[in-house]
Amino acid sequence: AAKGEGRNRFHYFTPSMQRDAKYRMRLIQDLRHAIAEQEFELYYQPIVGLQQDECLKVEALIRWRHPKRGLVPPIEFISVAEETGLIVDIGNWVFQQAARQSALWRDRFGVEVQVSINKSPVQFRDEGECFDTWVSLLNNLALTNNNICIEITEGLLLDGNEAIAATLERYRDAGIQVSLDDFGTGYSSLAYLKRFKIDFLKIDQSFTRNLDSQNSDFTLCEAIIVMAHKLGMKVIAEGVETEYQRKVLAEAGCDYGQGYLFSRPLPVEEFEQRFIETTVMHKNSEISDA
Ligand code: C2E
Ligand code: MG
Ligand code: MG
Ligand code: MG
Repeated sequence: AAKGEGRNRFHYFTPSMQRDAKYRMRLIQDLRHAIAEQEFELYYQPIVGLQQDECLKVEALIRWRHPKRGLVPPIEFISVAEETGLIVDIGNWVFQQAARQSALWRDRFGVEVQVSINKSPVQFRDEGECFDTWVSLLNNLALTNNNICIEITEGLLLDGNEAIAATLERYRDAGIQVSLDDFGTGYSSLAYLKRFKIDFLKIDQSFTRNLDSQNSDFTLCEAIIVMAHKLGMKVIAEGVETEYQRKVLAEAGCDYGQGYLFSRPLPVEEFEQRFIETTVMHKNSEISDA
């Protein structure tokens, strides 16, 4: 009976849904393969101090080097990875890679770089195991000084319960900072901002983009910045593309900017040349000036 049922159910799919289902199964297969073969790469986008030269901060963004399809952006595979739970393995790889990279930069160039990684709400489900593994890797690499920041989204805080609040607290105690990503796109309730301890609030790029338009989001951005500061958070504006946006945000007191104006996300060697090596040169010239 089960077999017959399965066969009948197949007919409920329209031809286009069949194609989608096939596509999806293929994608899941490919993703499993990609995890086993380590086909992922991290690209790095700088997060730049708008008020003063802050210490080096960067967001790691995943790319998939697919053997046939080339470089695949996260929008094409993260949601399927979340639905299937594969995001847990992918996310652990991202963390390890980011932590090792930060340690490598410290060892090779003598600079402390904070690397931000995106952590999906799904990754918080089997949190106990994850936390222990992550913290022991940080200890092995002697990374304790806020070298890692996790970016979470508003959705997590809403499901959120005391367990999530406690988890975030443990991360912060272990020297891992917390950013609230895409702020302003999720839900309208702000009550959670008081309940959860968050280090950085990232204003979503949809607000930044509207800064140069007629009905400007300036008042909104300014209010978000003031509120965040009063709650003890620093503010990062996402999607800064123009000099005008940078200027307006800096004047409004925004702490950091991230966007194409400063740099696109870069492969590791390029990020190193453009941002790490120049920082080291700058530091050395200050020392020889003195
Ligand atoms: P996000 O965390 O909000 O990352 C910012 C996205 O905006 C990145 O897209 C970045 O390339 C893009 N961006 C940066 N500056 C600008 C700009 O000036 N203008 C415009 N138009 N876009 C800009 P990307 O790399 O395609 O990543 C998209 C999303 O995929 C991320 O949004 C994040 O939600 C997710 N993602 C990326 N890497 C990971 C990961 O390792 N794990 C998980 N769970 N999600 C990830
Ligand atoms: Mg992010
Ligand atoms: Mg974002
Ligand atoms: Mg986003």
